[in-house]
Amino acid sequence: MKIVKTIKEVRDQVREWRKEGLSVGLVPTMGYLHEGHESLILKAVKDNDRVVVSDFVNPMQFGPTEDLATYPRDLDHDARLVENAGADLIFNPEPEEMYLDDFSSFVDMSTLTGGLCGKTRPIHFRGVCTVVSKLFNIVTPDRAYFGEKDAQQLAVIKHMVSDLSYGIEIVGCPIIREADGLAKSSRNTYLSEEERKAALVLSKSLFEEKKKIEEGLKDVKTIVSDIRTNIEKEPLAKIDYVEVVSWPDLKAKETVDGQVLCAIAVYIGKTRLIDNFIL
Ligand code: AMP
Repeated sequence: MKIVKTIKEVRDQVREWRKEGLSVGLVPTMGYLHEGHESLILKAVKDNDRVVVSDFVNPMQFGPTEDLATYPRDLDHDARLVENAGADLIFNPEPEEMYLDDFSSFVDMSTLTGGLCGKTRPIHFRGVCTVVSKLFNIVTPDRAYFGEKDAQQLAVIKHMVSDLSYGIEIVGCPIIREADGLAKSSRNTYLSEEERKAALVLSKSLFEEKKKIEEGLKDVKTIVSDIRTNIEKEPLAKIDYVEVVSWPDLKAKETVDGQVLCAIAVYIGKTRLIDNFIL
């Protein structure tokens, strides 16, 4: 397993693999890897001859008041996890390698990015689409792996790949959780002991409502209000949004029919956490 910092090194390596006729998978991450990332890497290793993991805290997807400066980083830990999972290359560029001083081209989307997380994080998906486009152009993978944990991101990337004819298969992977239900996230490290307990309100309220939907509840207003009521019982929690939309086109719904995404974003103290289920 190699760690490289430059676009040229990635291109040279991928060119060698291609000469041998090998397939290539890409797992884009911001590092501080956990079992959620690992599940994507393991799936990529299974599906492809060679796997590249990008490990890059992308400044472009953070708003001015967000946690770019404090986002956790640990490349040594990441390298061990990636190697043990059987991937071949970590691409860990500095921001200057990805964005030259006069950088001025962006990938922006006119649908899918305005609602859910896009409301609170208006420039987020422009940053995500731009960096993922660059990674696709650098690595030229056959397949790329994204977690359902970031369901809107998965929908956005699938749409972008279709719009821009990337010819890359986008593989969605299920949410990996802690034993008590909390969705694994690099940001869980921000939580104090008390906040960690409070954070359980996200998965608990979702599981409870999912069960009700499976038992026949269809009215979206009732579903949203049930989840809100449950979350509001937790004093450390402050709701950003609770929404039920169609999947994967993220349109507003009044009743549950066809595939739906039930997604929530909640501040626990200062930490913004997201969770969801697709039904
Ligand atoms: P991040 O490093 O947070 O940008 O995440 C990189 C990729 O890992 C994204 O596609 C995420 O959706 C995915 N991911 C993060 N946490 C989880 C999780 N708990 N389960 C499954 N996938 C995850």
